[in-house]
Amino acid sequence: MPIVTEDSSKIQVSPGQLFIGGKWQNGADTLETINPATGEVITTFAEAGSREVDSAVKAAREAFPAWRDTPPAKRGKLLWKLADLIGRDRERLATLETIDNGKPYFESGKIDIPFTAEIFRYFAGWATKIHGSTLPARGATFAYTRREPLGVVGLIIPWNLPLVMCSWKLGPALATGNTCVLKPAEQTPLTALALADLIKEAGFPDGVVNIITGRGTVTGAELVKHPDVNKISFTGSVPVGREIMKSAAETLKKVTLELGGKSPNIIFADANIDSAIKGAVNGIFYGKGELCCAGSRLLVDKSIHTQVVDGIKALVAKMQVGDPFDKKTRIGALVSKEQMKKVLGYINIGKEDGASVVAGGARAEMSGEFANGCFVQPTVFDNVNENMRIAREEIFGPVLAVIPFENEDEALAIANNVDFGLAAAVWTSDISRAHRFADKLEAGTVWINTINMFDPALPFGGFKQSGFGRDLGEDALDGYLQTKSIWVNLS
Ligand code: ADP
Repeated sequence: MPIVTEDSSKIQVSPGQLFIGGKWQNGADTLETINPATGEVITTFAEAGSREVDSAVKAAREAFPAWRDTPPAKRGKLLWKLADLIGRDRERLATLETIDNGKPYFESGKIDIPFTAEIFRYFAGWATKIHGSTLPARGATFAYTRREPLGVVGLIIPWNLPLVMCSWKLGPALATGNTCVLKPAEQTPLTALALADLIKEAGFPDGVVNIITGRGTVTGAELVKHPDVNKISFTGSVPVGREIMKSAAETLKKVTLELGGKSPNIIFADANIDSAIKGAVNGIFYGKGELCCAGSRLLVDKSIHTQVVDGIKALVAKMQVGDPFDKKTRIGALVSKEQMKKVLGYINIGKEDGASVVAGGARAEMSGEFANGCFVQPTVFDNVNENMRIAREEIFGPVLAVIPFENEDEALAIANNVDFGLAAAVWTSDISRAHRFADKLEAGTVWINTINMFDPALPFGGFKQSGFGRDLGEDALDGYLQTKSIWVNLS
């Protein structure tokens, strides 16, 4: 039991181990996880080396035949039970998420953790609804298909939505009868380790879910390389996605990649401007901008440009940056010093490239216990040119690039003129235009007159270099199933 709670405001964490075959085991090395709001070490956790990764894969392989043959209704009940336990422990999990990631407690407590439970419930329902079909094959035959699990799947999780991402991957993988080795990000291992305890408590058989921690270049790379892992499902950055695909090619593993974005948020003059301004602010600053779908490029009709930028500035001026546990805080700490450095680097690039800073533009200086925290002011660049680096590259921080446009054709061309294609939003009261954009935008998700909406039933994933395969929805099941055709001679 690596994590013990006294109350929701004080979390004691004892040295972490690896959850393999239903037991806690030592790793090859020990790492530290840091509270990015204070710079203090929260605790140490284990790193799995090649030996421990191998043990985790072996445990998953041993558990696979029985799990695959477990009645689907029982698999569904276990997932539902896990969701109940997450609900029961909401405060503790939200507290761990906030100290490990730096995000405001209202985000982890009100949104992330309840959403995690909802996703497990959604996939619990799917466990009993996976089936093949009968087909009219040639000759005197009876032909049918079965939808079967892949076997052992490796799930590699990013640090921005640590527990939510565990459910996006574990939910469909387990509902379809796969066994799992899950690796959270080294910046945010705590909620995944807490989840291991709940998985045990829910009654999942040992070895069905193994949770191993460690650096991506060590534990993650070993998992991707392992010859007995059938599939890797990864959410994270484009360069790492590329590495994973290359490495997985050696053993011809199946791969699902959910990568970065540079999502356009497009406001037309006929939109409800107040809603669009709020949407623009939430679209980029929710989650400190550390969201793959963040609306980081704001395309605004020239005729309303000043009105929109002024509206955004007014809302940003009211946003509290600081203590993630303060109820009024809207922007917490970025996840790490490295991430803060990267974001501040992009802010400098924006300035050097000639964009004008109309809000923020620097580190947010704090005092007292937060003096070493990784806080960055919510930053808005105006008059950005679509070819500037801040308009093309994923910053993954609270930095908005405002790009004015003349007309619909220009807006669409700018929106699609990036390598990414994860999400996009359009604000307009012209229903035909809204659907024209829904059709023409190169993105896996299009929001119309809203932004950053998620539901377990709606598939999420990328076009272009934002990846392939889908999380959530019925589509997510496809990534964890393979089809078998069966022929029966009737003559
Ligand atoms: P970011 O760049 O935003 O920190 P990453 O893509 O590096 O995100 O990390 C996402 C996840 O991928 C983390 O769990 C990380 O440990 C893991 N990871 C990083 N590098 C590798 C790698 N070479 N092989 C496998 N997993 C990796």
